[in-house]
Parts: sequence; C-alpha cells; structure tokens
Amino acid sequence: MASFDLAYNARIAQLHASLGIAPGYAQHSGLPLQIEPDELVDAGKDMFDRDQRLTPSALAAWQKMQQTAADQGITLLLVSAFRSVDYQAQLIRKKLDSGRTLDDIMQFNAAPGFSEHHTGRAVDIACPEDEPLQESFENTSAFKWLSENADRFGFVMSYPREHRHAISYEPWHWCFQLDQ
Ligand SMILES: [Zn+2]
Repeated sequence: MASFDLAYNARIAQLHASLGIAPGYAQHSGLPLQIEPDELVDAGKDMFDRDQRLTPSALAAWQKMQQTAADQGITLLLVSAFRSVDYQAQLIRKKLDSGRTLDDIMQFNAAPGFSEHHTGRAVDIACPEDEPLQESFENTSAFKWLSENADRFGFVMSYPREHRHAISYEPWHWCFQLDQ
C-alpha cells in the first residue's frame, strides 16, 4: 500500500464496524484501499446540478476528453466524481435504513475506504440517450467512443464484465490513472 496510514485504517475499520461490514472486507472483495487526495478542485456541476470535485490532473483530463468527444458529436455527462469516505458510509447507511440488506447493497457499493471515487480520479459517465448508471450504457455511442478513446486521456474502465473484484460490471465508471 502506497500510503499506509494507521489513522486512516482505524477510521475505515470503525466505519465498517458501525455499518456491520465484517472485518476482512479487503481480502474478500479483492478491492484495494483508496486514499482521499490532498487536493481537490471544483469540477463544475454534474447532470443533476450537484457540485463535483476532482484532482487537478483528473479534471484537466476529463475536460479534454469531454471536449474532444463533443467535437466528434458525442455528449459525455458527468454523473458523479469525488465521493468522500464519510459520504460513502452515509450512502450505505441510508440504504440500510430503507430496509435493504448489507449483502445486497455491497454488490453495488464498495465499502467506505474502497471506492475509487475517494481518489478524486474516478468519474461516472452518462449520455443523453440512456438513463445513468445502467448496464445498457454499454450499448450507447458514448460507451463505444470511450472504449476506443478514453485511454488516450488516461481513463480506464475499472470494473469490466470479467474482473476479480466484488463489484458488478460498471461500464459507466472510468478512472484517470496517470497521476498515481
Ligand atoms: Zn463509479
């Protein structure tokens, strides 16, 4: 682990305990611990008019990719960018409170500390032709464009259909990898 931090680990462990997530999540899920960045900048509004933030280099890469796609007739919409560890915990807490089981929730949400959105380099992307955060995004021209072009801007699809992690296929989730 690059930034092994006892205080951070202790905070994550405490959040997991409060949500009922069993110890050993890292081993079971195969997901790496994700560290919140030191610097985040305003990434503008997302498609739901919420303020979003990214790291400076991820924002620059995202804007360049979005503009290049637009120049080629492809609209890439931002659904979600940086999410804090605390936000992730709240998100899971809300779903638990609404009556969903932890096992069900954890199929779609990484445990606090293990979401790539904590890094400020991950973006969920949608397009006007499809509802956001649906597997059917893979059938859109936006997804086709991303598959062919995103790597030129440093973005990689983190959770392809076949992968070892305890997260479902997420064709909308792309992470900027160049400034790790
Ligand atoms: Zn995502």
